[in-house]
Amino acid sequence: MMQTALTLTQMINRAEKYFPKKQVVSRTASGIKRFTYKEIAERTRRLADGLETLGVERGDKVGTLAWNHHRHLEAYFAIPCSGAVLHTINIRLSPQHIAYIVNHAEDKVLLIDSDILPLIEKIHSEFTTVQAYIIMTDEEELPETTLEPVYHYEKLLASADDSYEYPDDLDENAPAGMCYTSATTGNPKGVVYSHRGIVLHSMALGLVDGAGVSEKDIALPVVPMFHVNAWGLPFAAVWFGTTLVMPGPYFTPKLIAELIEQEKVTITAGVPTIWLGLLKELDEKTYDMSSLRAVLCGGAAAPRGIIHAFEKKHNIPFMHAYGLTETSPLVVISNLKSYQEQLSDDEKINIKAMQGILVPGLEMKVIGKDGEIKWDGAEMGELALRGPWIASEYYKDERTAEAFKDGWFYTGDVVTVDEEGFMKIVDRTKDLIKSGGEWISSVDLENALMTHEAVFEAAVVAVPHEQWQERPVACVVLKDDYTGKTSAEELLQFLEPQFAKWWLPDEIIFMKEIPKTSVGKFLKRTLRDHVQKDILQRN
Ligand code: ADP
Repeated sequence: MMQTALTLTQMINRAEKYFPKKQVVSRTASGIKRFTYKEIAERTRRLADGLETLGVERGDKVGTLAWNHHRHLEAYFAIPCSGAVLHTINIRLSPQHIAYIVNHAEDKVLLIDSDILPLIEKIHSEFTTVQAYIIMTDEEELPETTLEPVYHYEKLLASADDSYEYPDDLDENAPAGMCYTSATTGNPKGVVYSHRGIVLHSMALGLVDGAGVSEKDIALPVVPMFHVNAWGLPFAAVWFGTTLVMPGPYFTPKLIAELIEQEKVTITAGVPTIWLGLLKELDEKTYDMSSLRAVLCGGAAAPRGIIHAFEKKHNIPFMHAYGLTETSPLVVISNLKSYQEQLSDDEKINIKAMQGILVPGLEMKVIGKDGEIKWDGAEMGELALRGPWIASEYYKDERTAEAFKDGWFYTGDVVTVDEEGFMKIVDRTKDLIKSGGEWISSVDLENALMTHEAVFEAAVVAVPHEQWQERPVACVVLKDDYTGKTSAEELLQFLEPQFAKWWLPDEIIFMKEIPKTSVGKFLKRTLRDHVQKDILQRN
């Protein structure tokens, strides 16, 4: 067979050639705008030409600090298709971490949303490699800034040449993108994505047994474009000619509900906190959600209660998936097998509450105390992966040796696998609660608590214990109507029939809010410190 290169250039070219009329709906600071793929492709070429004028060469890193909108989408293709590397930067990281990763990646040019400018003003003096800044704004003129040299995105495009041609000799193994994981300890770790990896991952997203993304879809990636490339959706969508709806800056659950209703969104993707917010909005106001064929949920375990509410109360199909920055991210997805469709509603939701089965193209093994675990849904072990869209190292980072061994990536996630091959994430290795030599899954306790009608959110952490080494403590946020009316005893009684006695939390602490990471996951380390201090003070 021929060895043709799998590069991103074919994706944007295909959108232009076959789907010039299809649209990208983009919400920016000044409202909703619509672009055809013909326009997007032309603007993308202009951006590539503009970057070249600024001195960007093959292999150079170009960083983006931006929300989900059409300009960011243009950068997604202009940068890699011209041979440079698209470095999406998480705007919610601390300023120190942002400065660290800009320097560590050696970004040459930064594309910045105008509202993020104040953050960059504070730290740009620490940047060691940046040679130019491009501001993405709807305004005619640039905002006041001390950055130098600074360019206006639209003016750069206007003065660029749209007859620019992408190089046709890109190596499919060349870096196309990079992203840093929001490490809970130490500095963020960089992952580099190759053209080939992104193309094959996009194929997996398009499989009916994957997320089934297709031309017929209207896709709303709520997951940020700085969080594992919005899970690869923008790449797949452009390649397939899918209509894209980009939610822009500072969106709310109300805005998401309105976009779904107005644009007739068929598939949307985000972390559980987003969907909790949307469910609350749907409780308060009626929206027409009938266009949705899938709510894709990953990044943290989807509590059973959320799945039940989407599927049974709102009649919206829920698709649970799992992955990491290191895995592009799609690894497993919870699609029922044909013969499981006959099961009861409850059983089907139980299956969907697991993360799912491995997507075609990847390999996995699960290593427990005595080697590979049995697929019995009970034995636990650490998940290791390999495949064409799994990273093989961290970028210039000695922590590579801890996670990448013998050609496998060790995820740091403890899982079980049932007889059908469905994987369930039990916990992160570091969040498992080790009590009296046994393991307690914080995730299981959280999910059980979150099915209680009074509970809005729950996070369970370990506290040190003299006799048992560690014990679980639950932190609970009650729904507004239940605050002050639901007791810890009531919640413990609710858990009792569901778990062995020694699994039950030693304490339930009520909180107003659970601290979250920059991508909306429970910040377990901060919570653990907080709870431990609280308990120490009381004793
Ligand atoms: P980080 O949260 O470290 O910035 P990632 O976004 O790469 O980085 O997070 C990957 C981690 O998120 C996984 O290792 C796993 O612990 C967790 N995770 C992702 N999806 C799920 C899921 N569906 N259920 C449970 N945990 C998940």
